Amino acid sequence: TINKTTEIIEKTQKFGANNYHPLPIVVSKAEGVWVENPEGNRYMDMLSAYSAVNQGHRHPKIIKALKDQADKVTLTSRAFHNDQLGPWYEKICKLTNKEMALPMNTGAEAVETAIKAARRWGYDVKGIAENQAEIIACTGNFHGRTMGAVSLSSDPEYKRGFGPMLPGIKLIPYGDIEALKAAITPNTAAFLIEPIQGEAGIILPPEGFLKAASDLCKENNVLFIADEIQVGLARTGKMFAVEWEEVNPDMLILGKALGGGVFPISCVVANSDVLGVFNPGSHGSTFGGNPLACAVSIAALEVIEEEKLADRSLELGKYFLEQLKVINSPVIKDIRGRGLFIGVELTEEARPYCEQLKEEGLLCKETHDTVIRFAPPLIITKEEIDWSIEKITKVLA
Ligand code: PLP
Repeated sequence: TINKTTEIIEKTQKFGANNYHPLPIVVSKAEGVWVENPEGNRYMDMLSAYSAVNQGHRHPKIIKALKDQADKVTLTSRAFHNDQLGPWYEKICKLTNKEMALPMNTGAEAVETAIKAARRWGYDVKGIAENQAEIIACTGNFHGRTMGAVSLSSDPEYKRGFGPMLPGIKLIPYGDIEALKAAITPNTAAFLIEPIQGEAGIILPPEGFLKAASDLCKENNVLFIADEIQVGLARTGKMFAVEWEEVNPDMLILGKALGGGVFPISCVVANSDVLGVFNPGSHGSTFGGNPLACAVSIAALEVIEEEKLADRSLELGKYFLEQLKVINSPVIKDIRGRGLFIGVELTEEARPYCEQLKEEGLLCKETHDTVIRFAPPLIITKEEIDWSIEKITKVLA
């Protein structure tokens, strides 16, 4: 007889567009850092849905907010006010110390919002001539899958067959301050950067780069935009990864954990001189700012604060990194990370190791061929990290 996992995977492959290459594991239940397949086997989640589940799967407080709000009102569109949006605005603005926020649903939509805001700011505030605005991004970036986001990408596989791309984009090597200096022109509206590159393989910029880039942007009246969709909200051991260099970005892009792994919500936050460029009719989204997402997001942010997840990530991340560095393995080339955002680079393809880790009860995903990302929910315990180290040692050593 065919077991349930096989049946489900066959159905998924038969009817689904082939745009992903998942590990052959079906998750049908989850709680905290643990997930379960239909046969009842338990696995530790070391990916956290690419940092969307920082608070842990189905955090009780977030699920309660979801259920309570579902019993009241879920969607109004922005044609009317809803009673959750105002409190959410206040919460996210206070947390980020910015004056305004604009909610969307997915990360890529928030990136689109940032591009639009930056361009319009370039014309209306900076005074760039019509259609001349430029945005500088970094090679190896990942900002999502919309046309705007893939236009920013340097990865041919993200772009192949999708042209023509958005014009007005320049790329510099990640972490190269001289290249940034050379790329800035009077037409530059913004510099967009992931403070740590996630999809590229947990790549940290050289020390001092973020601060230098931010200073350079200030000197040249260029917006510094931090895409913290994956690294923000406590993942790297600070509430925001830019805090590692005490950078105050002009715009912050958030998503993923903003919805606690429960309901999609993303946003852009900035001061009113930037986000004030939007007027009615210039931007929006039917689901953006819906009361269900806002109620969930408020709870998701409260969990991060109340449970001090940034401090937890910092402390446990340090411990995890130390334990990983002790592993004596011929295939480990580099181990790096901040907080519970760790990449182990191998000398060969990482996929077979992820498959073996799965057999040991540990769910990880390779990124860019040779890197295994370890990014568990931030509520993980030291004992659970010890358990994972045992498995990782067994597979890699
Ligand atoms: N930006 C960064 C840095 C990301 O890591 C991601 C997703 O992995 C995105 C943008 C896109 O977010 P979404 O998949 O929600 O559109």
